[in-house]
Amino acid sequence: MRVAVIGGGISGIASAYYLKQRNIAVDLYESAEHIGGRIGSELLLERWVDFGGKNIGSHYRLFREFARVCGNPEFEYFGINTSQLVNGRVIGISKEGARRFNMLRMMSLCGVDGVCKLYPHARTILKDRRQGVLGSEYFTRIADRYDHLTLADYLKKRCVNHVVRPITIRMNGAEPDECYPGNFGSNLALALDSYEQLRKGMHSLLDAVRFMSGPGLLRISEGHQVTSISNDSATGLVRIGYVYKGQADTAVYDRVISALPALRLASVLEENQPEAASLLRQIRYFPVAVAIVKYQNEVFRKNRRAMVFDQSFPLSNVGAYGINDLDLVRYTFSGRVSRSLVSENSRAEEVIGLGEQIASPYFSLEKNPREAFVYRYLAEGLCAYSSRHHMLLEKIDRALGNIKDFAATGDYRRGASIEACFRAALECVDKVIGVPP
Ligand SMILES: Cc1cc2nc3c(=O)[nH]c(=O)nc-3n(C[C@H](O)[C@H](O)[C@H](O)COP(=O)(O)OP(=O)(O)OC[C@H]3O[C@@H](n4cnc5c(N)ncnc54)[C@H](O)[C@@H]3O)c2cc1C
Repeated sequence: MRVAVIGGGISGIASAYYLKQRNIAVDLYESAEHIGGRIGSELLLERWVDFGGKNIGSHYRLFREFARVCGNPEFEYFGINTSQLVNGRVIGISKEGARRFNMLRMMSLCGVDGVCKLYPHARTILKDRRQGVLGSEYFTRIADRYDHLTLADYLKKRCVNHVVRPITIRMNGAEPDECYPGNFGSNLALALDSYEQLRKGMHSLLDAVRFMSGPGLLRISEGHQVTSISNDSATGLVRIGYVYKGQADTAVYDRVISALPALRLASVLEENQPEAASLLRQIRYFPVAVAIVKYQNEVFRKNRRAMVFDQSFPLSNVGAYGINDLDLVRYTFSGRVSRSLVSENSRAEEVIGLGEQIASPYFSLEKNPREAFVYRYLAEGLCAYSSRHHMLLEKIDRALGNIKDFAATGDYRRGASIEACFRAALECVDKVIGVPP
């Protein structure tokens, strides 16, 4: 059996990994010149830094297993350390601080209504981590009951502004009035975790994946853009169309897995499966811009390494790249105001200047020259799902059922975190190949 996996981001890599584990031959198609998608590293001076997904939770079991197989790269502590302005005062939350003190601070930011509504969700996840993904039993019930509301309507303003927004803006690139209670479990699970990052960046892992490829079980076809997926009546197999170096070609497979973000899969299916394409387009993605800047001197103090900004700013978050990288700043621009000020056409220097202007009252940025930076704008950066998302996914799967021996995974299935992408990929492989005995 030979299977095509379309999309070489972490969802596609995870799918290929689970297929390879079952000794099934895989062709991984990636339209860009390199696999990785929204994870990956760039060289900043002599250091590899990650522009996309990089923080790995202590509960990322599937990803950590994969990392072990890929040469067991070294992790470094990242933690949770953040702060925000509340009534003009800078309030810090840190996993390194006293637990009870943090808990009281969070409860005060949530308010009574927020505690009453969020505590049962948090308790459910802490008891059973499997509930902290999209479409879990518990959060499906929450969706059925409350997804006629947005998160901004579901909770009171204090909790929305100080607790919910810092989470949705970071994980979905979306404002609370663009997110729904039934999907919030996948975010809450991340907020209840603590984090590490790969010391040498995600590129070491991507190199290990490339190293495993070859003519045998895993063949990686970079620069190959898939343009269509359909059943081939002559052979009974699945035919994909693709373009490589401007030349169109096709290939047939026993099974095909899409590991594309929903909107990319919609484009591929537009012509042959318009119903599935139109359903996939109901899933929302929002842009995010990330700049990582090296300064001459330290910008942060060890005990205050990050800050989130409210909805009036285009800068959603500024933070130290790592616990010991106090002169290396990661700026993240997402949310409604960011969408109106930062676009594909914005100049990196201007965007970084904007970030510096906003963050400088709180951190040592003045008279601290920039030495170098990397910058990325991702138009479809973060997935914010949809209202009653589980029902939309059921409809999508029914429509995708028109293509035999085909299934789709990705960041819109179980959640956008790297671990959720692994879980969705494993489930997709089980669906397409069958669960091993
Ligand atoms: C800035 C940022 C920070 C994040 N931080 C974290 C974090 O700290 N921790 C965490 O757990 N998660 C984080 N995430 C989320 C996580 O990184 C993403 O959800 C995940 O990487 C998505 O992977 P994917 O494979 O589903 O999609 P993608 O990475 O988008 O992969 C899809 C791939 O398909 C390719 N492609 C598109 N169209 C075609 C086509 N027609 N044919 C062939 N190939 C095609 C694309 O080039 C791409 O490589 C972050 C995301 C962003 C953007």
